[in-house]
Amino acid sequence: MVRTKIVATVGPSSNTPEILRQMLAAGMTVARVNFSHGDHQSHRKIVQTLRTVAAEEGKVLAIMGDLQGPKLRLGNVMTGGINLALGDEVVLTPYPGQPGMIHLPHPDLIEAAQPGGRLVIGDGEVELTVVQKRKDTLRCRVIVAGLLEARKGVSAPGTNLTMSSITEKDRKDLELICELDLDYVALSFVRNADDIHELRRLMAERGADIPVIAKIEKSEAIDHLEEIRDAADGLMVARGDLGIEVPSQEVPMLQKRIIRACNAVGKPVITATQMLQSMVSHPRPTRAEASDVANAILDGTDAVMLSGETAAGDFPVRAVQMMSQIGQIVEREFPYDSWRARWRFDDGVESSVTEAISVASCEVAREVNAQAIVTTTMSGYTAAQIARHRPSTPIVAVSPSEKTQRLLALVWGVEGIIVPDFSDTDEMVSVTVESLRSIGLESGDNIVITAGVPFGSGRHTNLIQVHQVA
Ligand code: PEP
Repeated sequence: MVRTKIVATVGPSSNTPEILRQMLAAGMTVARVNFSHGDHQSHRKIVQTLRTVAAEEGKVLAIMGDLQGPKLRLGNVMTGGINLALGDEVVLTPYPGQPGMIHLPHPDLIEAAQPGGRLVIGDGEVELTVVQKRKDTLRCRVIVAGLLEARKGVSAPGTNLTMSSITEKDRKDLELICELDLDYVALSFVRNADDIHELRRLMAERGADIPVIAKIEKSEAIDHLEEIRDAADGLMVARGDLGIEVPSQEVPMLQKRIIRACNAVGKPVITATQMLQSMVSHPRPTRAEASDVANAILDGTDAVMLSGETAAGDFPVRAVQMMSQIGQIVEREFPYDSWRARWRFDDGVESSVTEAISVASCEVAREVNAQAIVTTTMSGYTAAQIARHRPSTPIVAVSPSEKTQRLLALVWGVEGIIVPDFSDTDEMVSVTVESLRSIGLESGDNIVITAGVPFGSGRHTNLIQVHQVA
């Protein structure tokens, strides 16, 4: 089993039970439903199919709804697009159908843009700089020549927009996400912690409290990274849009910074976009892509994500298998022993009994050559805290809560097992040992157990025990 978690985006290439079954078998632990595509009917159907297949296979599978956010786009332009040469000048207007002007249906962007500011179109196929700002128009010069096509995304690096990060469409999509009770909601184009607070308020109005993954794809978000991390339940390194907002050459070090910020407090982090991009149309990735996945794992990512590869590619199952195989090879040589040293002077977690026990469980497990660190957990918090120390010993989270198990589907190295409820320590140990037999625990094996006692009191983890299986 690979310890790095795999998020796979579902889409036309992967929305049948047969393909999803194979992707689950290959190691998908989180299915991402991208609300930038499809309609509510198709989203309902895929969520139903995912749940049915996971139940039939007896697998823990989390489902993440990914909100589109305020993706800015050009309006319509003439059929076939407009070929723009270096130095050409164009005028952008929020009003459609203006002769000789290009429709940019975002008055707030036109309002906020300043002379000297950049507008990046699509994936960077065309780039403009603002030369002059008039009441309702922007005169821009072409600094990267190319074909300007209708409905292409527009990014304005460094321009701070006042509009909400949660659009009308997002609100409607959020309603569905709450109704379907998905396990995670991802928010696009987050700028600061207020965006996360607003999302939580909207969920609370609907009686929901779904964990939030903040997608880091704006330079403004980098400036507020720690506050966003503290407000959210996890982060995504959304390298696609991030690489448009900031120069591509800055993305690798930002990736490391975002991952480290999450590792420091034990919150899950996903590395996303173009990881195995060539597998959209080829059965094998490039060497560079395989290295990219491996390096993200070595950086400390909890999960690696597939987008177009599984949503619209020709080889969705192979892409998941490839991620899993790369993960297993990296994990054989992962620097487990030196990992903890990095937190000695750089730790975002306040000292607590849970933290002390998390550290101790990794040390004790190594000393007694334990087969597993078993954490009995209601919320999943202790399991995530243990995981941040990246012990070489497998981490098993036993919990009666299926919901908790699905949350942990995004946390590095944690294998979830659903157990019957227990009321005292003896019962907990026997329930735990019984459940671990199914994953190969034998007589004489040591396991390190952590728990919060008395059970059901809502106390944090305060017990550590070495148990030798009779
Ligand atoms: C990204 O930009 O990298 C990303 C994951 O977002 P999306 O795929 O929703 O554009």
